[in-house]
Parts: sequence; C-alpha cells; structure tokens
Amino acid sequence: MSRIAYVNGHYVPLAQAMVHIEDRGYQFADGVYEVVAIHRGRLLDEGGHLDRLDRSLRELEIERPMGRAALGVAMRETLRRNRLDDGILYVQVTRGVAKREHGFPHPPVKPVLVMTVRRSNPPSAAQLSDGVGVITIPDLRWKRVDIKSVSLLPNILGKEQAHRAGAFEAWLVDEKGGVTEGTSTNAWIITKDGRLVTREAGPHILNGITRMAILRLAAKAGVAVEERSFSVDEAKAAREAFLSSSTNWVLPVTSVDGKPIGNGHPGATTMELREAYGREIAEAGAG
Ligand code: PLP
Repeated sequence: MSRIAYVNGHYVPLAQAMVHIEDRGYQFADGVYEVVAIHRGRLLDEGGHLDRLDRSLRELEIERPMGRAALGVAMRETLRRNRLDDGILYVQVTRGVAKREHGFPHPPVKPVLVMTVRRSNPPSAAQLSDGVGVITIPDLRWKRVDIKSVSLLPNILGKEQAHRAGAFEAWLVDEKGGVTEGTSTNAWIITKDGRLVTREAGPHILNGITRMAILRLAAKAGVAVEERSFSVDEAKAAREAFLSSSTNWVLPVTSVDGKPIGNGHPGATTMELREAYGREIAEAGAG
C-alpha cells in the first residue's frame, strides 16, 4: 500500500507531498518536530509528545498550526490512512513560507505542518540479548537542545561517526567532560552501588518522553535515581548502561568506546526497566 502524507490539511500520496522551496524549515531549519512511536496500531504517549511539541513551538514563537485536539485527530487520521501497526509518526511544524530573510516574517505567515508515517525496526533480538555499543564524541550542538528543533546537523554527523565505528550510538560529551545524551537517545548508567544516573533535564538535553516514563517507573520500583552529570570514565566503570527513546524504549548498552560495561552483558536492572516500560504500554493499550 502506498504511503500517505499529511501536508497542511491535505492527505496526499507521499510521492506528491511537497512544500515550497522557501519554507523556512528548508532554508533555516526554522522548525520543530516530534517522533511518536506506533505500537500495535496505537500512538504511544500521544499526550506527552503533544505537550513537548507545544513547548518547542512556544520557545521558538512559532504559531501552533491548529488546536491540540485537532492535531491529535489529524495525527490519528494520518496513521489510519497508512494502516500501519508498528512504526513511527513524524510530525514537523515550520514557521512557514516567506522571502528568505533571517528575521521572522512580517506580517507572520501560516506555519507549515507535515506528517508522515513509516515502518521502523524495533531493536533486534540480538541487540536485546547482546546490547549495543556506543562511542563518545564532543557535544557540538547549540545551547538549547531542550527544544526539539529540526536543526540536527551535529546529531546526524555524530550518528554517522558512530555507525562508521561499528557502534549503535554516539554519546555526546560537554566541555566539562559530562555526558549529555546520545544523538537521538537519552543516556543512562547504573553505578556499582545500584544508582540509576542520567543527566538532569535542562537546556543541554532533550527531555525524552521515554526518559520521563523511565524515571517514574524506576521510582515506583524503588530504584535510587540521580539526575546529574556523569563522566565517560564513570560510564566505563558502571555496572550497567542503557539508552532510551520512543522507538528503542530501553536498550542495553554493553560497551562504551569499546570498553565492556559490567560483565559485558545487558544488566538486570536495565532489562527490568525495559519490561516495566513494556508492561505499562500494554496496560495503556488495554485500558
Ligand atoms: N535525545 C535526543 C537528542 C533525541 O533526538 C531523542 C529522540 O528523538 C531523545 C533524546 C529521546 O526522546 P524520546 O524518548 O522522546 O524519543
């Protein structure tokens, strides 16, 4: 079945889905996005993603393309027309189409909303049983990465560097030596004494929807949590490590820069958190 995209109020075959070349997203990366996981025909944590999209739009003073309820309806309709059980919904809002000048267009133009749906591969059985490797590289991004902007050049270069090194992800390290997050995932370690550590929310990380769910589930399970900076050396000395995102859920990390983490196998707490996350999703689907 051919894929259907949403473009400014119209559902069109993907091959005919177009925006103007003076779209500010295309020329300036002046736009924001969300990636929502589709699991068994359902959008996971739609509310959380809509909240974050609203926040990103507010921070950049981009007008909301439509009300929240209407956007939710359009998202589900895009999903329905693509008849997909598992994959991702991509939502992008740019400031709109205007003559290329850096300042905001005056008078303001209508924002451009596009959505696509596609299949995506969940982690493979091997990735779950063996874990994945990450490399560490300098975090070269701007200072407001809490905004989910489409400006992702350092992220894509970092991901490519990771792949060329045979790793799944690159963990980004700030100028003080602290790991911020991955290029498209949040970064976590579990210390030798069983404390779950991830970077605190703030301008230097994207506060993942999955991250927030894991923090909640860890607290419920009685796991001690520390939201703070951790160094690459601390990560290499950790008992366990993992990464999180909407599409990967909780994915064990078993090496950092080639150094095995713990015993080199996915950790027990990591896998318990993954299972707890899966259970919560299953319960939300049944409810
Ligand atoms: N950090 C970055 C830089 C990301 O791009 C993403 C997801 O795209 C995440 C973290 C994970 O966020 P979420 O759990 O909302 O998918």
